Amino acid sequence: MNKFFATTPIYYVNDVPHIGHTYTTIAADVLTRYHHQKGKEAQLLTGTDEHGAKIAEAAKKHGEKPKEYADKISQEFKKTWDKLNINYVRFIRTTDEDHIKIVQEFLLKMYKNGAVEEKPRLYKGLYCVPHEKFMSKDELVNGLCPDHKTAPIDYAEENYYFRLSDYQQKLEQLISEDKIKVRPLTRKNEVLGKIRQGLEDISISRANLEWGIPLPFDTSHTTYVWIDALINYYTYGSANDLWPADLHLVGKDILWFHSVIWPAMLLSIGEEPPKEVFAHGFFTINGEKMSKTIGNVIKPEELINKYGVDGTRYVLLAAFPFGEDGNFSWELFDRLYNADLANGLGNLVARVARLSEKSGLSINQDMGEHETKDFEEKIESLDFSGALVVANHYLKNIDEKISQEKPWEIKDKDKLQKLLTSYISEIVKTVKLFQPFLPQTAENILSQFSGSIKSAPPLFPRV
Ligand SMILES: [Zn+2]
Repeated sequence: MNKFFATTPIYYVNDVPHIGHTYTTIAADVLTRYHHQKGKEAQLLTGTDEHGAKIAEAAKKHGEKPKEYADKISQEFKKTWDKLNINYVRFIRTTDEDHIKIVQEFLLKMYKNGAVEEKPRLYKGLYCVPHEKFMSKDELVNGLCPDHKTAPIDYAEENYYFRLSDYQQKLEQLISEDKIKVRPLTRKNEVLGKIRQGLEDISISRANLEWGIPLPFDTSHTTYVWIDALINYYTYGSANDLWPADLHLVGKDILWFHSVIWPAMLLSIGEEPPKEVFAHGFFTINGEKMSKTIGNVIKPEELINKYGVDGTRYVLLAAFPFGEDGNFSWELFDRLYNADLANGLGNLVARVARLSEKSGLSINQDMGEHETKDFEEKIESLDFSGALVVANHYLKNIDEKISQEKPWEIKDKDKLQKLLTSYISEIVKTVKLFQPFLPQTAENILSQFSGSIKSAPPLFPRV
């Protein structure tokens, strides 16, 4: 059977779920639901990243063991995704037994294949702790991490090294030929440019950190959290016959890990790289990235309380082109919600349902589907806001038709019911386009417009 296997990043468990995580996850869910609708076996993987120094420290502060602490806080992400109707196939945690086993097998293969240097060597450099990431001087702004506004620490430690530089030519070829499709195109070019400047070997272990997965070939070291985290996709994918992944959906800040380091790791053990890595932009607050450290996060609950679950899913994806940054504003979201959902879809459904109920209309036929290449091309290239424009255009056409034909003035019952049926047919077909975005609303409308039709409370009360 035709499969579609997509992943979100596994989120850092000590983070608070905010609309940045929510954005990625909803997008991945919409795409997975779309492919499922098209008859594919579509699966979405998400989860939490739970090892590393920061978790160990935070657990200690709470007087708990790292695993106990992670058990508790990983639930925050899971609950958030359940609330937002995210249809993930598994919520994977890097502390799961099967993952730990696969990480060790993976690293042992890398080591046996000579992709990891035989002995650890001294690494000296800069390390951003909130990021759990090594940083180069060029990445800093005035000596600070631009995302966290904190100074990285001086770092000196014996680490094992992955020979990333060996894969420079191969990666350049795979990415330029779209064998690994890096999108949007501007990002592909950035990644290629950076690869052509030369790849350096990278540290994959920590010597003085207990809270991690021991290296299988030297248990005095633990696996660097990023390496551990990337392997989660393979833990699930390889066990379920889904490898290679069709899509890794990521924020632009972690594109390098996913489009370069991760494919090289896979090549080093003779596995196929992911087919596509798509990097979306960020919601910024007054031009800055949202982060717990800066303290400017917007939580998904704030949106859900105002717009409902489907309203939240909608406004996040409709607001900006998916690959670009957009500045978050409540005014923009209110306007979108009111125009497209309250006055658009919601109002249209209510009007047609009211007229249909009054005329005693009953619908007992399958309404079929729109044939719309335009919509398909947009959603398949992850142009979610563009796809929604196409779907909304259908609704506008129905609205116009109703205004012209004035069904409320028609006395002949047969003629009226024929007209109403034609509107319902168009609405139903269009709602199927919205279905991956608005799963619960679509289900409600589809059931409202089958059998004898009744009015219902407003789908999207105005805000
Ligand atoms: Zn940082």
